Amino acid sequence: MTTTNIKRKVVILGSGPAGLTAAIYASRAQLEPLVIDGPEPGGQLTITTDVENYPGFADGIMGPALMEQFREQATRFGTEILNVWIDKVDLSQRPFTLYGKESADSDEITTEIKADTLIIATGASAKWLGVPGEAPVPEGLGGNGVSACATCDGFFFRGKEIVVVGGGDTAMEEALFLTRFASNVTLAHRRDEFRASKIMQERVMAHDKIKVLWNTEIKEILGSKDTGVEAVTLFNNKTNETSNFPTQGVFVAIGHKPNTELFKGILDMDDVGYLKTEGRTMTTNIPGVFACGDAQDSYYRQAVTAAGERPPGLIRLQRTPRTPRSCIASRSCVVASGDGTAMPLSRPFDRSSASSRHRWSLPYTLGCTRTPRAMPYRSSIARYSSSDAGSGV
Ligand code: NDP
Repeated sequence: MTTTNIKRKVVILGSGPAGLTAAIYASRAQLEPLVIDGPEPGGQLTITTDVENYPGFADGIMGPALMEQFREQATRFGTEILNVWIDKVDLSQRPFTLYGKESADSDEITTEIKADTLIIATGASAKWLGVPGEAPVPEGLGGNGVSACATCDGFFFRGKEIVVVGGGDTAMEEALFLTRFASNVTLAHRRDEFRASKIMQERVMAHDKIKVLWNTEIKEILGSKDTGVEAVTLFNNKTNETSNFPTQGVFVAIGHKPNTELFKGILDMDDVGYLKTEGRTMTTNIPGVFACGDAQDSYYRQAVTAAGERPPGLIRLQRTPRTPRSCIASRSCVVASGDGTAMPLSRPFDRSSASSRHRWSLPYTLGCTRTPRAMPYRSSIARYSSSDAGSGV
């Protein structure tokens, strides 16, 4: 099979709120971005139900519908979206190279993508308990009564008894959504208090179809290929009692892990795998490689923060039509620095003069303003103050 070669100024990996917002800004700046879809086009919102906290939708909006809007908005300005599985990356030199396959199972590299600038917006994926019976069919009952997506699979549990695991907002949301189908929902949480937002907790506690089991861990999911899930083994960590609890469905809603495996050993990340970015510029330890959204945000993990975290450099670029070449000529050049202010250059544009702290944002295209002074980032999506520094928001 022949390899397709693609070369772009900006390549965005991931098509959730962070990736598509970066694409909207990049395409409006005429950078003709290429978005690579990944295994879950649209990201986590495509497997959620009502989104009530995304501004602009007074009555709420369904997650998939919101992501469709993001997509249409990005493509309207010329963003191209490609569905390919990125198998490995070479970030050792610019342009960076991304090697793509048709699917995760395929052995053959079919696409080679060169990128001057790479924006990583690969998001995060559902975490699993790691207990016997949870693995996907045929090893376990995953997909045969075990799920991590109520929106996708809730419909199949009409009139059934369901267990939801977790104590965060995802668990609350899943439990509430599942009451539309299930005869009853049991929420099993390992502690004696939820970490979910107060409003979601209140809705769960007030729902007559939902019962909460505190201090309760799932130790095993029982059933067979023919019957699907039949029961879970529960362990009460206060009383040390173990019991079997009959149920026909288990929804695991215990959080997410960042999809950053691809960058292990290449980019700086924390112990969990969240990419480390610098202040408000969203730069990684490799100049020209940015990360935004859940791939680097272990704290907020909201659609609105993911959308607000697209590299601020893209906004700067949109507002400043002059290029480094014109800076060299005029010597009226400033460079976006890691702390979101600007560093005046007293001599012609010289990349070697930048310290690691004053790193170029988009080295070949960014870095100039008309006047050599700091400019705050301003947009309707994100507005920063000095107190935001380092928070990644
Ligand atoms: P969280 O990390 O907030 O919660 C995960 C929950 O799962 C915790 O209660 C945790 O228990 C429990 N848990 C983790 N690992 C295990 C395990 N191995 N066994 C048993 N239980 C486990 O993740 P969420 O996905 O719920 O939320 C992530 C972020 O997304 C949050 O900021 C949340 O507010 C946001 N969100 C917002 C929504 C909305 O506003 N509509 C909807 C969904 C999410 P413990 O508490 O003991 O650590």
